[in-house]
Order: sequence, then structure tokens, then C-alpha cells
Amino acid sequence: MSEEIKEAKPLNFLEKIIEDDLASNRVPNGEIVTRFPPEPNGYLHIGHIKSICINFGLAEKYKGRCHLRLDDTNPAKEDMEYINSIKDDIKWLGFDWGNYEYYASDYYDQLYEIALDLIRKGKAYVDSLTPEQMKEYRGTLTEPGKNSPDRDRSIEENMDLFLRMKNGEFPEGTYTLRAKIDMASPNINMRDPALYRIKYAEHPRTGNKWCIYPMYDFTHPISDAIEGITHSICTLEFEDHRPAYDWATEIDNIEHAPHQYEFARLNISHCLMSKRRLLYLVNNNFVSGWDDPRMPTVSGIRRRGYSPEAMKDFVSRVGVAKVEGMVDYSLMEFCVREDLNKKAKRLMAVLDPLKIIIDNYPEGQVEYFEAEDNPEDENSGKHKVAFTRELYIEKEDFMEEPVKGYHRLYPGNEIRLKHAYYITANSVEKDADGNIVAVHCTYDPESKGGSTPDGRKVRGTSHWVSAEHVLEAEVRQYDKLFKAEVPGSTTGNYLDDLNPESLVILPKAYIELEAANAKPGDYLQFIRNGYYCVDSKDSTEDHMVFNRTCTLKDSWSKMKAKMGIK
Ligand code: ATP
Ligand code: MG
Repeated sequence: MSEEIKEAKPLNFLEKIIEDDLASNRVPNGEIVTRFPPEPNGYLHIGHIKSICINFGLAEKYKGRCHLRLDDTNPAKEDMEYINSIKDDIKWLGFDWGNYEYYASDYYDQLYEIALDLIRKGKAYVDSLTPEQMKEYRGTLTEPGKNSPDRDRSIEENMDLFLRMKNGEFPEGTYTLRAKIDMASPNINMRDPALYRIKYAEHPRTGNKWCIYPMYDFTHPISDAIEGITHSICTLEFEDHRPAYDWATEIDNIEHAPHQYEFARLNISHCLMSKRRLLYLVNNNFVSGWDDPRMPTVSGIRRRGYSPEAMKDFVSRVGVAKVEGMVDYSLMEFCVREDLNKKAKRLMAVLDPLKIIIDNYPEGQVEYFEAEDNPEDENSGKHKVAFTRELYIEKEDFMEEPVKGYHRLYPGNEIRLKHAYYITANSVEKDADGNIVAVHCTYDPESKGGSTPDGRKVRGTSHWVSAEHVLEAEVRQYDKLFKAEVPGSTTGNYLDDLNPESLVILPKAYIELEAANAKPGDYLQFIRNGYYCVDSKDSTEDHMVFNRTCTLKDSWSKMKAKMGIK
């Protein structure tokens, strides 16, 4: 995109806020500081890509910085494996947090001191209501809450109980430290929110040092304040938490308190975007892991063959708004195809093979044709394709008795073999059950390279591979993991909408030999079949495995259009 067009793009609401803040000197040193704060309780998904692009993107655009903050306040669900995958995925997207790698657990000491201070000032108390009672006392959206009988405990008593909570004297669920705000507030999040709970779990970073852990609404704003975040950007479900955020950042009279801004989360049709549900699919073997190529996780789409550029393009087309909506899966695939069309190396692969024997081609002869790697790329290289007497074409490229309008190979018809010769089918060879095992053809030696001296035209062109100079490989045909636009929308159970055809394995496909040089991370197109990549996990030198990234055309949305479905 040219600079000019970039400039012409209207500002989104976050950019407007930032430009306004910069213009009126509300940002210390004019340095925008954002953060991406994943909780390391699962792998990142496509929704997170939007948040990453917004946070790192704004920092880049306004020459500020973006912190990576692992929001690790729930040791029971968090794991080093998740932390490592999160870092790896952000790097893959092309973003860099430099030295600004933080953990909420880095602030446990500070948070504890702040909590003690709140108790000293009479702004927090230790509550002995059980979680059930606390719910009861909290009230509802229409009814105010009730004060806990412990709300007026003395400062000394609060201090003593909180210390003992910290020292591990009480079981889980017996005591909670709460902020003393307002049980009648119309905002439930302001009805004396919990600040600390007791939890006996080993933390991935602090081990067994703590048995009390700070809550999100307390930890997050204070972490932002400590790091000097200027714009704390999150999704809309946190809008109701903003007063609690502001309450926490005002505790220490911070001069430049960070502010929270909310945008609409990304939802994509045919996808689930909740770590909890994705974890369920993994744990119950509905998929092979977090990085199963059907998963809407970053590691899944990476393995599927999506590129970071395609995903950034997708997120930028979706835009930043404050209204929740659903983005169609086909828009994402459109971006993937646009990108791969420019990048993918074209190869010939026969997925459903039928043998062709060219009777007038000398046995044992090998000829090499040059094939362009990518006709969409002006700097494209070339590679060689071996042509021999016996070849494979796709089964669907031959019909013994052609239907009307069929222009591919059938007895008596002439077609072009891509890059090579014209061939005419003469007869078929069948097994005892009547299945065609080979088609006998003749070729026209004058048609080398795809045209003849007499200029005669043929209507069909087939891709093919030599039966001898060939790579036998496994091909995994992936499709959407869920059939329904909103998984679970009809029966209430998203598992009912799993697509039984989301993975079809072709154990033995034939691919031109050049494919043996492909490595994980290379982008490939199997001509007429789709975009593919080498599987990064299961592919070995002796047994290569190729994943279908996506089909060449969006047959699905075409089909819907045909049927008049929106
Ligand atoms: P999930 O609901 O899938 O479990 P989460 O919100 O619990 O996700 P976090 O690790 O807390 O996941 O999220 C890190 C950041 O990513 C948060 O700022 C959150 O607002 C943002 N985020 C999460 N899901 C989406 C989404 N679908 N679209 C945009 N941003 C998202
Ligand atoms: Mg969360």
C-alpha cells in the first residue's frame, strides 16, 4: 500500500483518542505506552491477533512502545507451556516487545503493600462470608447489595486476619480481602469487589511463596499504573469494570493515571473463540492438540499455512469498532488466498490418481519441462518437471463416457498436459471388477510446450505427474472445524456442530519431485487443487505430509449464493 493511501485511511476511534491526547499534551513525554496482557491459561487464538495488532500497531504508529504482560494471577490454570507459546506466536506475527516483558506476578509484593495500605486507611476489609453468601449479599442488577456483617471490622482486626491469610493459616474460601466501596452502587463491580483470595496452588513463577492471590480488577489497573501504560485497551466485556479500574488507579494518586478503552472483540463464523472451549476440544481429543491445523489458534493457523501478513490484512479489513459483530469466515479465507496467490510456489500434485500410458512415447525416456514457480510474481524462478511414458492425472479429469459439456479427457478427445504435450485418449484398461486402471493415449510430438504448428486448439488442460519421478506423500485435506455459522446455535451444544469432514486424509498422493525440497513454512499451491504447506510436526524426510491451507476458490460462499442463502 502506498503511503498516500495509508494516510487517507480514516482514523479509528482509538487513534482519534490518542491523537487528541498527544495534541493536548496529556501523554507524559508524548510517549504512547500500550500493553498486550494475555492470561497464560491457553494458547492464543485469532481474536487475540486483533488485540495484538491494535496494541502493538498503535505503539508502532505513534512511535511508543507496547509491553507484553503475562497476566498470571490464577496459578491453578496457568502453565509455562502457555507462556512460551504466547511469546512464540507474537514473534511469528512480527511484533517485538523488546525488553518490556512483564508478569503480573512481578508485582505481587507491591500489590500486597498496596493492600496493607488500603486496610490501614480503612478502605479494605477481610470478609468471612462464604462465596455463596457473598453472592447473596451482592444483590442483582435491579436490587442493591447488602453490607457484609464484617464490613466494619476494626483496622487492627483486618490487619491481623490479612496477615494470617498470607501466612497460610486458613483454608481456601474462608476469608477474602475486599475493597470498601459501595454495596448500593448501580454497578455490581463496585459493590466491594474482592481484592485477594486464598489459593493453595504452585505458581509457575513464584512457586509456593504465596497462598493469597490478587484479583484481576485489582491487579490489572495497578500493573498498568506501575508500568506507565498510557492507553489500556481491552475488549467490551470490561466496560462495566472501568469504574473499578479507575478506583484502583486512583489509590496512589498517580499523576498520570492510565485510562482504559474498550473495543469490540473479534468473532468469526464457524469458529469458537474461547480458551475454555478450545481446551475442552484438546482435552477430549476432538482435535490433535492446540496446534491442530483446524484450531482457530495462532499455532493452528500457522501449521495450516496461513501467513502473518494475511492475518494482519484480515484484522485491518475488519477494523476497530465499538459494536460487537460476526465476521464471516470467508473474509478470512479471502485474505489468505490473496496473500498466497502472490507467494505460493506452483506445483503439480495428483490427489486422486489415474494412470495414463502414452503408447507412442519411448519407454525409459525422460524429458524435463520448465515450470514457472509463480506466474503472479515477476521475479519468479523456474523448476523442472519430469515427463515420462507413464503418468498420473486426476480421476475426475477422465470420463469413459463423457457427459455433455465435458471437455477433459475421454476416448477420442485431445487435451493439453500442462507445460508438456497434447495427448489423445484411445482406450481403457480395466481390472476384473470393471474399474479403470489405466488409460492408453498417444501424444503429438509436435505439440511440445503446449501448442502445435497447425495452431489447433484444445479445450481441456490437465495437471499430471510422472509415475516414476514422483514424490509419494500424505495429504491432509482440512476444512472448517464446525459446520454451523454459530457452533451450538441450534442444539445448545457446540459439539453437535463439529464437521465430520473437517479432516480427510489421503494416504498416498503423487506430487512432482520438486515438492521434496519444500520445508515447513514454505507456501505452496498444488495447481487446481488448492494451497498447501508441509506439516511442521508430522512430516519427515521419508514420509512427507502436506496440509491443505485452503481451497483455491471459495466454493462454499458460491454455493450459498447459488442457493440464495445470505
Ligand atoms: P478467552 O475469552 O478466549 O478465554 P480472554 O479474554 O480470557 O480470552 P486473555 O488472555 O485475558 O483472554 O486476553 C488477552 C487480551 O486479548 C485481552 O485484552 C482481551 O481483551 C483480548 N481478547 C481476547 N479475546 C479477544 C477477541 N476475540 N477479540 C479481540 N480481543 C480479544
Ligand atoms: Mg480472560
